[in-house]
Amino acid sequence: QAQERVFNFAAGPATLPETVLLRAQSELYLWRGSGMSVMEMSHRGKDFTSIIEKAESDLRTLLQIPPEYSVLFLQGGATTQFAAVPLNLCAPEEPVDYVVTGSWSDKAFKEAQKYCKPSVIWSGKSEKYTKIPSLQGLEQNPDAKYLHICSNETIHGVEYKDYPTPTNPNGVLVADMSSNFCSKPVDVSKFGVIYAGAQKNVGPSGVTIVIIRNDLIGHAQGLTPVMLDYKIHAENRSLYNTPPCYGIYMCGLVFEDLLEQGGLGEVEKNNVKKAEILYNAIDASNGFYKCPVEKSVRSLMNVPFTLEKSELEGEFIKEAAKENMVQLKGHRSVGGMRASIYNAMPLPGVQKLVAFMKDFQARHA
Ligand code: PLP
Repeated sequence: QAQERVFNFAAGPATLPETVLLRAQSELYLWRGSGMSVMEMSHRGKDFTSIIEKAESDLRTLLQIPPEYSVLFLQGGATTQFAAVPLNLCAPEEPVDYVVTGSWSDKAFKEAQKYCKPSVIWSGKSEKYTKIPSLQGLEQNPDAKYLHICSNETIHGVEYKDYPTPTNPNGVLVADMSSNFCSKPVDVSKFGVIYAGAQKNVGPSGVTIVIIRNDLIGHAQGLTPVMLDYKIHAENRSLYNTPPCYGIYMCGLVFEDLLEQGGLGEVEKNNVKKAEILYNAIDASNGFYKCPVEKSVRSLMNVPFTLEKSELEGEFIKEAAKENMVQLKGHRSVGGMRASIYNAMPLPGVQKLVAFMKDFQARHA
């Protein structure tokens, strides 16, 4: 029996564009005259070389990445970058600044404590991670080697709308962009390092993308594992060892799709529209649904909300699933609900969720 695809509101791995999945399906067995699947190819052969080069070049076009930046396709998830960033950018005794706006930036900070001397210069913990600091209110250490932020907190649903200017000597801002990567245009030149796991907006899990300013490459601490050394990966164009070939191919198909949609400006317009529809429905529910996040910093990607009658949450999730809307349960650390509406969530998915929310309210208010 043919199964229907659901609207998948998961935070990641997350829904991918249908066109991309169908394209991958059509070339799964035989990739464009190569006589084999991408999974079976040598990572050093001409076919895979064309795949990874096209993926990089399309990503460069999408984000208008300046030439003095390297693009790396790595493994180990964004979690590995929590260690790689301090290992590559500073010495063990050097200070670095972290802004902690939610669980992910907190994890990044804690990992950095093993490799350098990080300080939390702002934390949203006492306000349950519902805010982003004002850009003027950040007291940075003038000697810090970098300033680290998480541009979108996947669990708490707070997103930077503008970025702080680093005041450290080398002007290094580092961002974990895992959950809003390629969801809107970004001025890459403001950053020293951008890193992102692919499994939200741009592909399957197993690929981690790092965009790094070239002058920051080549200063890794002596004990840095070879797999975490940006210099090794930059010099070998992400082919030092066997890369996650199939995942990189899938990311490449997503980049092509984003370009065909008209680029990240168009993508952002769609994301704003979807988020507006959902947040408006929450705010117009007379308190039946609530989003705790300060309005000006609400995420376009991850929309956490609670029910006034919290005892109905299980029922909400169960009924939604019956209507083919799945993965709406909030993260176990915060409870409630969370709808992740990444690039590939189509507008009809959000419209259907909002119609369901109104109906659920009418039946349970
Ligand atoms: N950073 C953010 C913002 C995330 O959302 C996640 C995963 O959900 C991570 C880091 C960790 O990513 P990974 O599981 O790829 O290590």
